[in-house]
Amino acid sequence: MDTFKYISNSEQETGLFARKLAGLLKPGSILCLHGDLGAGKTTFTKGLAEGLKIKPEKVHSPTFTLLNIYEGKVPLYHFDLYRMDDIKEILNIGYEEFLYGDGIAVIEWADKLKELLPPEFLKIEFKHEGEDKRSIAVSAQGKTYDPVAAKFVVPRWV
Ligand code: ADP
Ligand code: MG
Repeated sequence: MDTFKYISNSEQETGLFARKLAGLLKPGSILCLHGDLGAGKTTFTKGLAEGLKIKPEKVHSPTFTLLNIYEGKVPLYHFDLYRMDDIKEILNIGYEEFLYGDGIAVIEWADKLKELLPPEFLKIEFKHEGEDKRSIAVSAQGKTYDPVAAKFVVPRWV
């Protein structure tokens, strides 16, 4: 499956992109976000929340917890693993209930999950391309997410 790359030129464009993507998700969807600090993962999560009828100002990166839960059209489980030192921390909060539950899970610094990384997810990679410019690459990891990723891929003419 192809990777779709979107170029965002502002915080607002990243938010809009996320709001549109929210409409393609279903309860149980998992989004793994990758990228450096300041690349736009939390900004994207705010847009996602807005798309799910959650007030975006509720969304912030949890400082002392690994998980924030927002109630919207469906629950949004927002993990931020930046400060996680030991994988046991995520086991202790019973992460499976949230990852494989009835809500939508979005995970910042998902690579820290290592062997706990889910078998299937929508992968979103953020890169700094300039002061306000970011590339956002979307790809499906696992067949379940192929139709979501396919929505972004422009049909080829040849
Ligand atoms: P992360 O969660 O990946 O560490 P944040 O979303 O918290 O990143 O921060 C991104 C920062 O970059 C914000 O200060 C935001 O205003 C700024 N920014 C500038 N241009 C963009 C863009 N195109 N998309 C997202 N954020 C942007
Ligand atoms: Mg963040």
